[in-house]
Amino acid sequence: MQENQTPQKRKPRWIRSQWPCNPEIAALKKMLRSQKLATVCEEAACPNLGECFGCGTATFMIMGNTCTRNCKFCNVTHGLTSPLDQSEPNSLAETVAAMHLKYVVVTSVTRDDLVDGGAAHFAACIKALRTKVPGVKIEILTPDFKQCQNQALKTLGTALPDVFNHNIETAPRLYATVRPQANYQTSLTLLKIHKELYPEVLTKSGMMLGLGETKDETVNVMLDLRKHNVDMLTLGQYLQPTTAHLPVARYVLPQEFTDFAKIAKDLGFKKVASAPLVRSSYHAEAFDKDSDF
Ligand code: SF4
Repeated sequence: MQENQTPQKRKPRWIRSQWPCNPEIAALKKMLRSQKLATVCEEAACPNLGECFGCGTATFMIMGNTCTRNCKFCNVTHGLTSPLDQSEPNSLAETVAAMHLKYVVVTSVTRDDLVDGGAAHFAACIKALRTKVPGVKIEILTPDFKQCQNQALKTLGTALPDVFNHNIETAPRLYATVRPQANYQTSLTLLKIHKELYPEVLTKSGMMLGLGETKDETVNVMLDLRKHNVDMLTLGQYLQPTTAHLPVARYVLPQEFTDFAKIAKDLGFKKVASAPLVRSSYHAEAFDKDSDF
C-alpha cells in the first residue's frame, strides 16, 4: 500500500449491490459507445444502474470526462481538458430518444477553463432534448460556476430544466479536505439565485454521509439548504472509489438515514431520498409523484 493510500474499510451488509449484466443493459451500453456518450452511472459504477435504466432514467456526463478540479472523494479524471464537442447536444438528444427515456439527468465535470463554465453547452443540450424528445423530463446537475455565476445563471435561463440540481456534498467544516476548490456559500448562493430567477423550476441538492460529519452538522446543512429555498434533498453513503481517495470515516446506519429523512421532511423539503445507496439522481424520475423518491 503506497504512502498516500488508505486501506478500504470492510463494507457492511447493507452496502451490497448487484451489478446487472442483462442483454438490455448490454445493448444500451453499445449504443452509448456508438454515440461517444458517457453516463455517470457507468463511470461511477453506480450501484443503482440496473434499477434506474430499468425505470427509464439515466445520467449523462457532458463536456468530456476530465475535470479542472480534484475533489478528494471523486473518481473522475482531473487535468487538461479538451475543447467542447459542438455535436454533443444532438447526439445526446438522439440517444435519449433511442433509449425511450422518460427522465434524463445531464451533469458535467467542472470546467473552470471555460469563460461561462459550460453554461451555454448545458443550455444547448436542453434545447436539443426539448426539440428531439418532447415531453422528456430534464434535470441538470451542474458545477458551481464559481467564477461566472451571474452570467451562467442568465445563460441557463435561456433553456430551463424541470429540476436544477447542485450538490452541496458535505458540511462546511470538511470542505478543505473533501472539495478544496469549492466554497460552501458559493454553492448555496447558486441554488438560491436560481430559485429566485426561475421559481417554477424545482431545486435539489445532495450530501454524502460518512466523511466525518456529525449529526448536528448534517442537520445544519439541511437547515442552510432550506434557508436557500432548496426543494428536494438526497442523502447517501460515501463510498471510497479507490485507496487514493478519502477513507470512509464511518458507515452510517440505515436507521439514521430514515431519521434524517424525517427531519428533512419536517424542515419542509418537498422530496427526500435518504438511504445508504441513494445517489443524487436516484429515482429522479419520481420528482413529480406524490410519494418520496
Ligand atoms: S468538481 Fe465534480 S467532477 Fe470535478 S472532481 Fe469535483 S466532484 Fe468530481
